[in-house]
Amino acid sequence: MFCRYFSLQKKILHIFDVIVIGAGGAGMMCAAQVGQQGRSVVVLDHNAQVGRKILISGGGRCNFTNVEARPENFVSKNPHFCKSALARYRPADFIKLVESYRIRYHEKKLGQLFCDDSARQIVDLLLDEMDKGGVKLSLNTKIDSVKKSEDFFEVETSRGLFKAERLVVATGGLSVPQVGATGFGYEIARYFNLKIVQTEPALDGFTWSHDDLDRFGPLAGVSLDTVVSAGKASFRENVLFTHTGLSGPASLQASLYWQRGQKLTIDLSPELDVGDYLLSRRREGVRQELKNVLAEVLPRRFADAFVEGKSLAGPLNGLAEKTLLNVGQSLKSWQVQPQATVGYRKAEVTRGGVDTSHLSSQTMECKTVPGLYFIGEVVDVTGQLGGYNFQWAWASAVSVAAALA
Ligand SMILES: Cc1cc2nc3c(=O)[nH]c(=O)nc-3n(C[C@H](O)[C@H](O)[C@H](O)COP(=O)(O)OP(=O)(O)OC[C@H]3O[C@@H](n4cnc5c(N)ncnc54)[C@H](O)[C@@H]3O)c2cc1C
Repeated sequence: MFCRYFSLQKKILHIFDVIVIGAGGAGMMCAAQVGQQGRSVVVLDHNAQVGRKILISGGGRCNFTNVEARPENFVSKNPHFCKSALARYRPADFIKLVESYRIRYHEKKLGQLFCDDSARQIVDLLLDEMDKGGVKLSLNTKIDSVKKSEDFFEVETSRGLFKAERLVVATGGLSVPQVGATGFGYEIARYFNLKIVQTEPALDGFTWSHDDLDRFGPLAGVSLDTVVSAGKASFRENVLFTHTGLSGPASLQASLYWQRGQKLTIDLSPELDVGDYLLSRRREGVRQELKNVLAEVLPRRFADAFVEGKSLAGPLNGLAEKTLLNVGQSLKSWQVQPQATVGYRKAEVTRGGVDTSHLSSQTMECKTVPGLYFIGEVVDVTGQLGGYNFQWAWASAVSVAAALA
């Protein structure tokens, strides 16, 4: 192990084998593993606390992996890039680590594993693993510049100059700046002439356009079981109407795939063919208004808003069969045009990031700058909702450790 400190013209100089920037899930996991292999490692972070996103994740219980994690659950300009890392370090590997700390967990749904007690346990696990590796942690550290001179990376900070032959950038994405997220990792990438795949907030749901806000804003609080489709991606889960747009797991998932200007198609009744249902009620001679019959199978407030402004008044048995089938069809494929996604303040992730064409999928090392690595969310690999993003953080971190073993 090799770590030296000098006082150089009043400037403190710290020399390590590896500098990791970012004490989030990816950075801490990488530092712990590399440290345990016997290298001197320092983790730098501008926050006063490590793992702030872990602490707020999964509603405070951290959905730390998904047992079903597969490359298909990730979005990237190069969908193959994540395969090698995900194959090397699997959900079962992280589960084993969690179990070794006797952290109790449960599957909530769809393979999503959460701590029974608190996300704090995952942070403590990572701190303990870093401790085992003798990793130094430098918090409250403002980074002024990063450069490479000959074989060393030099990181100028408020706590002096850090030098190492290897630099791991684990600064995450832009989502939730309230907990310290910045675009610093992208700046480092640009400094080394790497391209950035355009970044967008994702897993954040949608906002209505001005007109739709008047119509659907009053539905805030209504929740429906749906299938939401954005392009070719479809998700069967709940949507929740909010005061400003659509939330709930199906909307969050769809926001990862949605492109500006695109329409969403929503099946508002995946279990029931509403057209057939209306016809059967009509045959029974039902004289209630359509909106009241719809309210038998959909939330009342939604049924009222759906019918409003359409010429569908009068008793059900007075409406033509074709009209009822059309109503059923428009509920099967309800088309809405969101104005935007909710934005970085609420987004669980940032889609896009460091273009993977610059990185080795085996090691995460930059092809043109030896010794420079990018891991976690800063890379253009973004997982769906459900524990996939942490699995990517762990797996990409372990790829670096494997490369340095
Ligand atoms: C509300 C919320 C809930 C989530 N829930 C889940 C979940 O349950 N399951 C799941 O899989 N994913 C979840 N995610 C996504 C997941 O948290 C992230 O994908 C994951 O934390 C990314 O890890 P990372 O280490 O790459 O980046 P981060 O965790 O963002 O860590 C980056 C670190 O870099 C530091 N940093 C940034 N800029 C600088 C700078 N300029 N100088 C120094 N340090 C800097 C930050 O302070 C931070 O500590 C959630 C996200 C949010 C916002």
